[in-house]
Amino acid sequence: MATTSLDQAARSGLASGFGGELIPPGDPGYDDARSVYNAMIDRRPGLIARCASTDDVAAAVEFGRREGALLSIRGGGHNAGGLGVCDDGLVIDLSPMRGIEVDPDARTVRVQGGATWGEVDRATHEHGLAVPSGIISTTGVGGLTLGGGIGHLSRKYGLGIDNLLAADLVLADGSTVTASEDSNSDLFWAIRGGGGNFGVVTSFLFRGNPVHTVLAGPMFWSLEQSEEALRFYDEFMAGAPEDVNGFFAFLTVPPADPFPAELQMRKVCGVVWCCTGDLEEAEEALRPAREFGPPLMDGVQPVPFPAIQSAFDALYPPGLQWYWKADFVDELPDAAVAAHAEHGARLPSMHSTMHMYPIDGAVHRKREDETAFAYRNSRWAEVIVGVDPEPGNAAAITDWAKRYWDALHPHSAGGAYVNFLMHDEGRARVEATYRGNYDRLVEVKRRYDPDNLFRVNQNIAP
Ligand SMILES: Cc1cc2nc3c(=O)[nH]c(=O)nc-3n(C[C@H](O)[C@H](O)[C@H](O)COP(=O)(O)OP(=O)(O)OC[C@H]3O[C@@H](n4cnc5c(N)ncnc54)[C@H](O)[C@@H]3O)c2cc1C
Repeated sequence: MATTSLDQAARSGLASGFGGELIPPGDPGYDDARSVYNAMIDRRPGLIARCASTDDVAAAVEFGRREGALLSIRGGGHNAGGLGVCDDGLVIDLSPMRGIEVDPDARTVRVQGGATWGEVDRATHEHGLAVPSGIISTTGVGGLTLGGGIGHLSRKYGLGIDNLLAADLVLADGSTVTASEDSNSDLFWAIRGGGGNFGVVTSFLFRGNPVHTVLAGPMFWSLEQSEEALRFYDEFMAGAPEDVNGFFAFLTVPPADPFPAELQMRKVCGVVWCCTGDLEEAEEALRPAREFGPPLMDGVQPVPFPAIQSAFDALYPPGLQWYWKADFVDELPDAAVAAHAEHGARLPSMHSTMHMYPIDGAVHRKREDETAFAYRNSRWAEVIVGVDPEPGNAAAITDWAKRYWDALHPHSAGGAYVNFLMHDEGRARVEATYRGNYDRLVEVKRRYDPDNLFRVNQNIAP
């Protein structure tokens, strides 16, 4: 449908009774409303429907279906492939829907579909609770949760989806349902890893976990030690208590406090730790890491949980160029360690990085077919991240990420974390990501969205 006609149709077909805001091309707020976190993405929707309520979402879904519009769902707008926006079609923008209610007695948290994790962290922290999420607080609850949710609390409390108790959705036919273990359990299975394929989630109900002050921060080692450091990390994490989480990284030390002047802009490898539980026990558990090396810098200290959750926010503001490639990893043979050392040393820009997030501990306690997330028995979610502020460097960061990935992919488990796929990776990659769960996802898709209305995502085609 052409852009202008979608806007015109909305004036008669959507505007009456729509409590949110309709933003067509030409509106003064249009460019702001269409921009997403990754500045490499430059899409021009036919209309952006900023929804203020579930009724608005249902009206927008029905309107989009009726008009035959391409339809995308925008949560936090952080998806690197830009899957929250689309060209020419209708964006269902949930950003006004950010309500959060914590029930400290029941230890539950209800979160509307457009909230970001920093808002959730602030609300839960005052009750000594936390919901497992990712490592950057500006990421949307919607996309991160529906893809799985890997972060600082994964080893102790599992993935984001392992803490999801229920979700309210607007389906492709405009109806509203609740998905939980007891209600539409097939849908509940599918949305725990299957992304935004099945409907618009207007509200999530999470379990809150007792987390307040954590022992957290980075330790860096020199690049000369990177092979040794990776081997140490591999062995250490295999025996570490579940309270100890730490992701391995190649990075450039940022040119800012609190990093020592002599390390700033130096390429290093390191681990960003986040330990829950008793602080003294955590200090003791991390002793081998402190003794290994020893580190060039040890920034590990007791901090409020939201502080480690937002520690990277300033380094990675919206508006940078992002290109990433990812895989799940089961083991680190010598050839993989050598390839990491080689490509990790060639970070093409200050912001570029490689992260390996642990997938074990509590994550392993569910079977791989218990939710749609199919790589629970992996050990790491690896992501090779080319980032730079300069659009002119987009090709260089993309090229580095692809070459690094080409060298590592033969040592991977085959598929990637769905939230670390770009928009152009193709169906085979999506199938590899869901492997044994893919056929069941197709069945659920046929039941809830047979016409594939929700297809601006890592698509499970009905
Ligand atoms: C800097 C950065 C750091 C990250 N760190 C982590 C991390 O530590 N751990 C991790 O697991 N992931 C991480 N991610 C990946 C992140 O999970 C994905 O990018 C995710 O898609 C972002 O969700 P969003 O709601 O912000 O995205 P959007 O771009 O708004 O949406 C992404 C996709 O999710 C769907 N969607 C979003 N909200 C809803 C909803 N309410 N209902 C239905 N569908 C919806 C959209 O349709 C779209 O397909 C990171 C991403 C970035 C850019």
